[in-house]
Amino acid sequence: VEVQSPSVELCKLAGQLCYMSFGLTRSRNTPEDIERYFGNILSSKHGSVLEHANVSILFWGDSRSLTHELVRHRVGIGFSQVSQRYVDGTKLRFVERPEYQRDEVLHRCFEDSIDSAAAEYATRAERLLQITHFDESMSRTERRKAVNQAARSCLPNETEAPIVVTANMRTWRHMIENRASRHAEPEIRRGFSKVLSALTIVAGALVGDYTITKLADGSEDVQTSWRKV
Ligand SMILES: Cc1cc2nc3c(=O)[nH]c(=O)nc-3n(C[C@H](O)[C@H](O)[C@H](O)COP(=O)(O)OP(=O)(O)OC[C@H]3O[C@@H](n4cnc5c(N)ncnc54)[C@H](O)[C@@H]3O)c2cc1C
Repeated sequence: VEVQSPSVELCKLAGQLCYMSFGLTRSRNTPEDIERYFGNILSSKHGSVLEHANVSILFWGDSRSLTHELVRHRVGIGFSQVSQRYVDGTKLRFVERPEYQRDEVLHRCFEDSIDSAAAEYATRAERLLQITHFDESMSRTERRKAVNQAARSCLPNETEAPIVVTANMRTWRHMIENRASRHAEPEIRRGFSKVLSALTIVAGALVGDYTITKLADGSEDVQTSWRKV
């Protein structure tokens, strides 16, 4: 008997419960059984079964433009993201787009613009500290937030914005189909290729139908016959 990941076991148990079909004569747990089982679940669009498995993923080293697209997803999902009001400019990091990494001129543009954004942030924060009227009752944290929230307006989309995302497997599938396809923006597409790799490790049977095609520029396009189950 093969042991599946807890996420896969849970979804299988939930699906079997619907029909009280637990396979009393044998465990139905070989890789072939599991593949056939979830093939049926996906092809019949019985996707609610996949809502029982929740997976949390830390997006680290991704830009605020990527996370802005990510947080448009609303169903079956939760987020915790670094606060630009609480965390000041000493922790600033920036993310270079793939197109910029490949070209010397664009790479220099990127470096110049992030140096200037960081310097601008520091200048604004210093000035805001001098001119802001702080109520005496305000704590140090409240004062810092009042400065940071005004200084951050000069930060570009390239600012790194770490975020923890917890979603159920039905939602992860929906996001993979939207964000890892060739129609998606390259940075988020690259991120979601990695999401698919991670989910293949922890819940492979729930994403086993996806096919990955290498595109001319080396990036990946992820597709399935069973979209939006
Ligand atoms: C390639 C691409 C380009 C895009 N371009 C733009 C753009 O130019 N401008 C822009 O503003 N956005 C853009 N978006 C974002 C897009 O419009 C969605 O907001 C985002 O992808 C979230 O998708 P969703 O609503 O399906 O997802 P979720 O919020 O995860 O919802 C999952 C599903 O639940 C159902 N659902 C959720 N909420 C509702 C509701 N209120 N009523 C009925 N059904 C609901 C829908 O079936 C939905 O597909 C783009 C997305 C992609 C992938």
